[in-house]
Order: sequence, then structure tokens, then C-alpha cells
Amino acid sequence: MKTIQIPASTPYEVHIEVGCLPRLGQQLAAIFPPCTAVVVSDENAFPHYGQTVSESMQAAGFSVLTYVLPAGESSKTLDSYGRLLAFLARHHLRRSDFLVALGGGVIGDLTGFAAATYLRGIPYVQVPTTLLAAVDSSVGGKTAVDLPVGKNLVGAFWQPALVWCDPDTLTTLPASVFTDGCAEVIKYGLLGDAAFFHRLGREPIADSPEEVIAHCVAMKRDLVAQDEQDRGVRQLLNLGHTFGHAIEECSGYTLSHGHCVAMGMAIITRSAAAQGLCPPSAVTEVLQLLERYQLPTTAPYPLAQLEHAALSDKKIFGETIHLVVPENVGCCRLRDVPASELRRWLMAGGVQ
Ligand code: MG
Repeated sequence: MKTIQIPASTPYEVHIEVGCLPRLGQQLAAIFPPCTAVVVSDENAFPHYGQTVSESMQAAGFSVLTYVLPAGESSKTLDSYGRLLAFLARHHLRRSDFLVALGGGVIGDLTGFAAATYLRGIPYVQVPTTLLAAVDSSVGGKTAVDLPVGKNLVGAFWQPALVWCDPDTLTTLPASVFTDGCAEVIKYGLLGDAAFFHRLGREPIADSPEEVIAHCVAMKRDLVAQDEQDRGVRQLLNLGHTFGHAIEECSGYTLSHGHCVAMGMAIITRSAAAQGLCPPSAVTEVLQLLERYQLPTTAPYPLAQLEHAALSDKKIFGETIHLVVPENVGCCRLRDVPASELRRWLMAGGVQ
């Protein structure tokens, strides 16, 4: 069992323990008086864990409603957000009630944003059931939905009241979804902890998920504690994401986030080495570790298309792009790069 305190503007605990899911209700009863709670989930997670969660909450004295969406990024729209809000209003949820996000990153982001805005803000709880959500998106209070022109363009910083993570839920994940989370785990090692990075090469993540998740959450805690609103050091967590998002967009979101982040990390590390900003040995180590976890290291799209996709954010956010650049394994730095130089960075990263 691991418990990590997140010292955000509203502090909360992340609890990570194999087999803890049936005790969620008990823990919630220590935080909330008896009230109504809506469990928001998707068609992947709910059939596995919906009943356990609902029953444990009912046993603890909560009145439980459930709201289940189709799985996948297509549920993270303004439309599905509006329908969720309408459901909450139809069932007379009050400000003293709360939401439970049971699922992966899409469910966490959508539920968090609904909680942030319904009645100007009600509490919510994150119950991540994917590795990616456990190590990254369930912690730190970033909530959002997508717009047709880009991902996560509408959202709020709204911290959960609790994150309750049972690594047993990872055992029902399809292999490719587990692998997706491995990319974000590797990201933590590359951005700030060489010893952890090297351990991932020796000991498979699946062998000790509780320790791995706790390690990543502790690293995220340290960054969020310094920069809750993502204006500085927290941006290091975007390692691999500038080019990763571009690849995701080129694929029409048919390639998964973690796989695209893996390609993004490979490209930015190659690019840094080609420009003399990091040693060639770092490239070898990063590629080896990604391949060990069956993650891709080259992008299946040509330079012009990737550049166009990477610059589509620029149209919205101005001429400078914040790149997270590896200086070695375990050490990265934020660099402001003019949009006009992005092409050069991609080419140096092996994109043709
Ligand atoms: Mg990510």
C-alpha cells in the first residue's frame, strides 16, 4: 500500500494498493457525508468494475447513480460533456454531491471538467483503471474536453478529492492499452530520474505496478507542487508530447496517445543528440527501452504533414513553442523554440 499526499491548492491523497477497489466506499465515507454520487465510466471499464464500485459505495451509505459512455476519445467532446451535465441536472445533483471517474484518461478528463463546472464546481474522485491514467492523468487536476480543432482546448484546473488506484484493474487491459501507459512511465525516467529509467530496463513494469505507479505519482507531485497551473516546471511532463500530439493528429486519432508519445520522445531525443545537446548514448538507451516495451520509435508520416500538424497549435498559441529537450537520460530542459525552427528540429530527429 502506498499513500501519496498531493499538496495542491486543495490537498488530497493518492492511494495505490493492489485489491483496494472494494474498499472505495469505506474511504469515501471518511471524506463525504451520506449523499448522492454519480459513477461516470465507459463501456470498457464499467462491465469489469462498475458493480464492485457501486456496491461498496452503497454499503457505505451513498445513493449511487451510474452514467456509462462509449469508450474512446470520441467521448471527450462538448456534446458528451453537455449530455453528462444534463444527466446531473435531471437527477438534481447538488453542490454537496460528487462524481466518481471510473476508467482511463478520457473518463477522468471529462468527469473532472463536468465536476469543475456543474453548479460552478462539485467534488469528484478519480478511480483510474488504466496505467496511463494511474501514472499521469488522474493526478494533478487537469480536466478537459476536445474541440474539433484540437485536443484538450476547453478545460479547467480542478483537483480531485481523492485518487483511488487499484493496480489489479490493469490486469484486464488489452496489451496495447497497457503498453500505452508504459510510454508515460518511461517518460518520467527520461525527464528526471536516470536510476528509475534504468530499472525499467531490468524489471518489467508489469512485475511491480504498485511501486512503479507510486514512483511516477511522487515525481508528478513534486512538479505539481511547484507549478500547479502549468506555467513553468510542470511543462517538463510534456516531454515527447509536442511531436506526439502532431502524430496523433496526423493519424486522425487512430494511433493511441502513449504510442505517439513514444515516437515523440524518440524524435526529440534524436534531434537533441544531432544538435549536440545530448550524448548519442542517450538515443541508444531511449530507443532500446521503448523497443523493449514494444513501443514505436519512428513516425509513419512525412515531414511536411508532421510540421503542419505541430504548427496547428501555433496558430492558436503564437509563434513560440515550448519544447522539452533531453540533455541526457534523467535530465531534460524546457526550451522556447521559434515556430520557424520546428522543421529543423523534426529533420534532426530523423523525420524525412
Ligand atoms: Mg500524456
